[in-house]
Amino acid sequence: MFRIWQNHFRQNRIRGFCLLRGIAMTNDWKFSTLEYTRPDVAAAVQTITGFTDKVRSAASAADVLSAITDLDAASSEFMTMVTICSVRHTLNTKDEFYQAEYEYIMEQLPTMNPAQIAFQDAVAESPFRPDVETVYGKQIFVKAELAKKSFTEANIPLMQRESKLCTEYENMMAGAEIPFEGETLNLYGIQKHFEDEDREKRRAAYRAYEKFYADNEPRLEEIWDELIKIRTEMGRNLGFDSFIPLGYMQQGRTDYGQEEVASFRAQVLKELVPFCSELYEAQARRLGLAHVMAYDEKRVFPDGNAHPAGDDDFMIRNAQSMYHDISPETGEFIDFMIDHELMDLKNKPGKASTGYMTFLPSLKAPFVFSCFNGTIFDMEVLSHELGHAFAGYMSMRSQPVFDLCDWTTDIAEIHSMAMEQFAYPYAERFFGDDADKYRFQHLQEAITFVPFGVAVDEFQHICYAHPELSAKERTYEWHKLEEKYMPWRKYDPDQEFFGRGGYWYHKLHIFLYPFYYINYTLTTMGAMEFKTRDARDHEGAWADYLKLCRCGSSMSYLETLRHAGLMVPFEEGTVEKACAYAISILRDSIAGME
Ligand code: ZN
Repeated sequence: MFRIWQNHFRQNRIRGFCLLRGIAMTNDWKFSTLEYTRPDVAAAVQTITGFTDKVRSAASAADVLSAITDLDAASSEFMTMVTICSVRHTLNTKDEFYQAEYEYIMEQLPTMNPAQIAFQDAVAESPFRPDVETVYGKQIFVKAELAKKSFTEANIPLMQRESKLCTEYENMMAGAEIPFEGETLNLYGIQKHFEDEDREKRRAAYRAYEKFYADNEPRLEEIWDELIKIRTEMGRNLGFDSFIPLGYMQQGRTDYGQEEVASFRAQVLKELVPFCSELYEAQARRLGLAHVMAYDEKRVFPDGNAHPAGDDDFMIRNAQSMYHDISPETGEFIDFMIDHELMDLKNKPGKASTGYMTFLPSLKAPFVFSCFNGTIFDMEVLSHELGHAFAGYMSMRSQPVFDLCDWTTDIAEIHSMAMEQFAYPYAERFFGDDADKYRFQHLQEAITFVPFGVAVDEFQHICYAHPELSAKERTYEWHKLEEKYMPWRKYDPDQEFFGRGGYWYHKLHIFLYPFYYINYTLTTMGAMEFKTRDARDHEGAWADYLKLCRCGSSMSYLETLRHAGLMVPFEEGTVEKACAYAISILRDSIAGME
């Protein structure tokens, strides 16, 4: 409705609107046949201004409310076009038409912000604001206020430059061509070999992966350096000392700050890091190794990790049957996704090496993108990204305007990670006899991910708090964080690049989505809580999960957690309580394997 489009969360949160002819909708549409028309940004600005005038001259609450809903409809049409463009761009990054369209849109969108802020101001200052609050709640104003506070016209050229650098990083990653054993692999394809039975092959694959980043280090250093400078300037233009407060605002954080996040990282260090070391020690014993080296971490079992029991189509068919069995709501949802071709999951050359879910709001349709690689990752896509999509599907059918469907990711990643847990009982369908292996490996990864995730968060705090650091000093900071949060991590002595901290370069979020990453770790707590509750009371856990999905972004972070009966991760003891059940399962499984 009237949320400002923000540059940082490009694929999932591209907002704006304009006058576009509506997409003629019948029920038999498919994503591949949707017609794309370039969104007209200048016309959009005029339209927003027209609605602003309507709100300013409104004679009744009904006038204001109808301006909001009309604007929501126009905005949804606009955003659907933007999504079509960005999805098709990521489906084939070599398609020059959508590449040019995408760059054009990314450059133009920030210019709409002033008109959008004027509209928000008009609603906020309207004598009928209480009526708007009655219908839509308070959060919509809180979000509008935040968007306003995080914007200044002086930042538009910086946002445009930022967007270009992000696109360059994305294209470098998507274009990765890694030679390996006579094949040319992309960044997803090479990772499959990290699980190989042959240790030398794992090591070689890991080195090929490292070499890609090491070869690109000079340009990546420049991109990151420039992004830090640009973002720091943006923060200073808004009166902050650094980019950090602005980064938090861009993440839509309205009821917690740096201190709370730091207290969560401290809990992870105390509660989870020692346990993760235990997990890797057990893995070393299973594999018969003195130590699990970085290139051994993904090889969880000596006789091989869990493997999907069929091809890509087999996995998708089983996902359909699983969602039908989970609940009537998920059944209706998965049929909708398949009927309208809203999933593109197979790995193809030129596809961006990423996975995401995004919205086609005027169609009340989610879209899911990923690159299957024949490992348990594929199951994660089918549960994680489809978990996001399910939440989008539910909120777009529960909330009155799209602006209340568009969650912050500290909530959104609960939808997805909890769905991964709700899918555990169905693992046999996807993995056959390997189902127990899948559950163990997935749960181990879910827990060992958390220390890595908080390290990524701390790394960003260091970089933005000290923009004066040189590129090599920053990379060394990552090395120190690995020692702190991942004390098990070991590279070969001659792995110079990773050895001095180069591993962080692979993390796309660091470049593209500042301060996003901590959300995955906060939400792991929510997912582990749902796991625990599901084991005790499936009906109750599922009912609360549906509540969480339906409420969209109509409440603040802390309110949403309360609404779904979840604990607050920042409170001392939460990490321990949330993870206790998962830890006990993992300990029992390890004991059973020894
Ligand atoms: Zn996610």
